[in-house]
This record gives sequence, C-alpha cells and structure tokens, in this order.
Amino acid sequence: MEPKCAVGNFDDQLNRALEAIRQQGLWRTLRRLDSPQGTRVRIEGRDLLNFSSNDYLGLASHPGLAEAAARALAQYGAGAGASRLVCGSLAPHEELERSLADFKGTPAALAFSTGFAAAMGTIPALLGRGDIVILDKLAHACLVDAAKMSGATLRVFAHNDLADLEKKLAWAAKESAKAAPTAASPRTLVVTESVFSMDGDLAPLREIVALKNQYHAWLMIDEAHATGMFGARRTGLAEAAGVAGQIEIHMGTLGKAVGAGGGYICGSQTLRDFLINRARSFVFSTAPPPAAVAAANAGLELIRSEAGERLCADLWARVDQLRARLTAAGLTVPAARSPIVPLVLGKEDVALRAAQELLAKGFLVPAIRYPTVARGKARLRVTLSAAHTAAEVDALAAALSKIL
Ligand SMILES: *Cc1c(COP(=O)(O)O)cnc(C)c1O
Repeated sequence: MEPKCAVGNFDDQLNRALEAIRQQGLWRTLRRLDSPQGTRVRIEGRDLLNFSSNDYLGLASHPGLAEAAARALAQYGAGAGASRLVCGSLAPHEELERSLADFKGTPAALAFSTGFAAAMGTIPALLGRGDIVILDKLAHACLVDAAKMSGATLRVFAHNDLADLEKKLAWAAKESAKAAPTAASPRTLVVTESVFSMDGDLAPLREIVALKNQYHAWLMIDEAHATGMFGARRTGLAEAAGVAGQIEIHMGTLGKAVGAGGGYICGSQTLRDFLINRARSFVFSTAPPPAAVAAANAGLELIRSEAGERLCADLWARVDQLRARLTAAGLTVPAARSPIVPLVLGKEDVALRAAQELLAKGFLVPAIRYPTVARGKARLRVTLSAAHTAAEVDALAAALSKIL
C-alpha cells in the first residue's frame, strides 16, 4: 500500500479539528474589507454601518495621523531595520515614548510592536518560577498567555470579585512566607484589564490598589479599552479612579482609540531599563515601523488636544444615546456606562443569527463567541465611535429592538 503523503495526512488532521470547530458553531473566516477603517465600511461588495471596531475616537482614518505617518515614511523610510538595541533607536520611537510618559504621568514608557507583544515581553520578564501571578478571570488572552509563559504559579480570581482577589492574595502571602529565607523572596503580581474588552465593565481599581498595597503585591493594568476615553485627561481608568500613581505597570495598545498600532508599557525609569534588558519581545524583535510610531504619536497628541476633548464628549453622547434608546425599547443594557455595549444572548447560534440579521439590514455588529468569551455567553458586541452620527445610532437601536 502507498504510504499516505505527509502533507495530506497533515491536512487531514487539521481538517478533523476544523470539523469539530464547525460543529460547535465556532467556525471563523476572514471577510475582505475594501474601504478604510471607519463607521462606514465596504465589505465584500456591501456598504455597511460599522459598530464593531475599537477605533473609538475615529482616529484610524484621521488625516492628521496619515499625514504624520507619511512624513515619517518620507524621512525615515518604511522599515526600522532591526531591534532598537542593534541599530540604534530612531527619533520617532524616542518621541513617542516621551509623549506616552508625559500623557500617562509616569517617569518613563517603552513602545512595543503590539499590545500583545507588550504583555508577552513584560510579565515573563518580571516573574519566573516561584513567583505568583493573580489574574482576573476575564483578562485578555495576551495576559493569560504571558502569565503562563512566565512559569510563575498562576491563580485566577472571579471577575471583578474583590473578596476572591483578597483570598488569593492572602494565600500568596502565606506561600511567600514559606519560601526559604535565602532565596530571592517570591513576588506576587496582580493583573487585570481596566475596562474589559468583551463586557465593557470596569475593574474596581481603587479597591484593587488598596488590596495589592495591603498584601505588598505589584499591579499591572491593561488599559487597551480605556486609554483615550476615561479620566479628565483621557489617559485611562487609573486616572479616573485617582490611583494612577500607585500602579507599578500600565499597559495598553496604540491600535484602538489612539488610531494607529503598537503597544506600550508606562511606569518607572527602572521598569523601562529593566524591560529594555529583559523583555524578549522587545530585545529580539524588529522595532515597529517609524510611520506607525509617528501615527501613534499624532493620535496621542490629538487625544490630548481640545479636538480630542470634543471627540471624547461626542463618543460619550453616543453611548448615552444608545443606552437610552435600548432601555426605552425594553432591552436590558449593561450596568456599566462604556463605549463597549455587549448584548449577551447565550447560545452561539442565536448570537450568530442575530448578527446575520443585522448584516442583512446593513449593520456590522459581530457575534462574539467562545473562545473569546465563555461557552454559552455568546453575544452581540456593539462598539461606539465618536465618528458615529446620532442618526446612525438611532438606526442601530431601531434594528436591535426589532431583532431582539
Ligand atoms: C486588543 C487588546 C490587546 C492587544 O493589543 P494589540 O495592540 O491589538 O496587540 C491587549 N489587551 C486587550 C484587553 C485588548 O483588547
């Protein structure tokens, strides 16, 4: 008998796994987008109203960012060429980090090529075997993967549950006390998102900071969905909660409200020096393209300006409008006031069908399913942007009221 061709066998195995994914209603495909990112997009020949993006302030297609990128492209070319430790650190990267630190009110900042890379570089640099990492149950995949990769003992606390967090911290303190007095004393790091990506709810940061102080732990917060929108200066939920100065590690992305791409860590100068030496996704990775970095810097500048203040006010007006319309239609809106408005429907196929009906009416609202959220917690995830008009939000509310 002919031995089965190796590639055929490889694909057979993958296809069996894919079949299982299909049967669970979890099949995913890519759809070609033929317009810039924005509130109106052209996907596979259809014009759709987009309520699915994380481009909360509409900066992804803002001409100011594109112009900054074009200038950097002309001045520095397309590629960064190497890791910043190898060929020198380009001016745009240095400028971005200065403005990030200034914006966040931290002594220093370090840019990464993505938010995912920032997490994967930072947690394993800070922790190793013998240390303890305590994660919120709904923390983003990059935080989970980074925590696992670090080799530290991983504990998960129930989502936003302070009593459970305290239980885990008390356990960690006891474990640390047991360690041999000669060994470097084990460290405990608490990790949470500030505004949760799929639920839109807010971490009780003031209380979490009090607990981590009480138990002498460190705290890392991921502000991916808060930077640009929360706090009087729009720096994030830590600012809004008045605890920014007590958080050791501020993390986020430059690809959402900031409108460009990349990730960052903000904190002390020592943290920056440490990560430059120890974060493997920084040390062993090509620096982000100068154009992307310049666009991110322009996005940050815009957020800090009066124009940014206006955009942020527009966004919150749309949030309040949608919540009021849905409530008036008898639908339950989430408790937290947030640009992320999840409508939890439960079964995967129910959420998928609702998304398809919306699509037929010209609205792009994604059905979010396992593994992005827990099984049986499938939902429509509506995200709002400062670039949506009041009429567009009304149209979505009417369509949702009809379908749900
Ligand atoms: C999007 C996201 C990230 C990753 O950021 P990228 O820059 O897109 O890699 C990290 N954390 C959370 C909570 C996110 O939503």
